[in-house]
Amino acid sequence: MNCVGKWIVFLGAPGCGKGTQAESLVSENNFTVVSMGDILRENKTKSVAAYDGMTIGEIIGNGILLPDEIVMGLVKDELKKIDSVVNRNLLFDGIPRTIGQAESLSLLAEEFKKKIDKVLNFVIDDEIIFKRILGRYKCSKCGKIYNDFFLSPKVSGVCDVCGGNKFDRRTDDNEESLKKRLSEYHSKTHILIDFYSKLGMLYNVNANDDPQKVREFVLDSLNAKKES
Ligand SMILES: [Zn+2]
Repeated sequence: MNCVGKWIVFLGAPGCGKGTQAESLVSENNFTVVSMGDILRENKTKSVAAYDGMTIGEIIGNGILLPDEIVMGLVKDELKKIDSVVNRNLLFDGIPRTIGQAESLSLLAEEFKKKIDKVLNFVIDDEIIFKRILGRYKCSKCGKIYNDFFLSPKVSGVCDVCGGNKFDRRTDDNEESLKKRLSEYHSKTHILIDFYSKLGMLYNVNANDDPQKVREFVLDSLNAKKES
């Protein structure tokens, strides 16, 4: 895929595999990822005058939703830091999260003489997300990742790579919290899906398959000609 200066948005629930797809677009297709998670981490000690000098980290930590204006200000600052940004393919991950941010991202694109080219929506069964996230564990010694449902060691309880027999599971992902995260995601995202769908910008990517297959779907979507 040859393209220069395209702006793409990824929409997808936690565990949908969009991170993996983003990595391969970066390494093989000259994309730069603009990730909201990364931007917030980088700016967590920045203080915000409108909140009496509280830092971004403190605001989020207090459960306050950052106003779109502040979020998009951070995004704009981030874009300015990217070398020859107008010549780069940009992939927005975690941005936008609201209609306000979507509108302001389009305006931001105009400022850079660009437009949002496509919005890829990773469609995946919740059941598969559950298996991917809750089934995941790793070898304590070498870090090799396994999954109860998809990838067990050849000999049960023994790491294929290093022969270790201790494994770690992430404790923050239990079924209840994951259910909550997914339902929050769906309730917040459906308006964005409608918004981009009406604009003819939305491409659904079947994310139920393995990463190789999903990558083909992603490239097909990026290469697809718009009907209008
Ligand atoms: Zn190991």
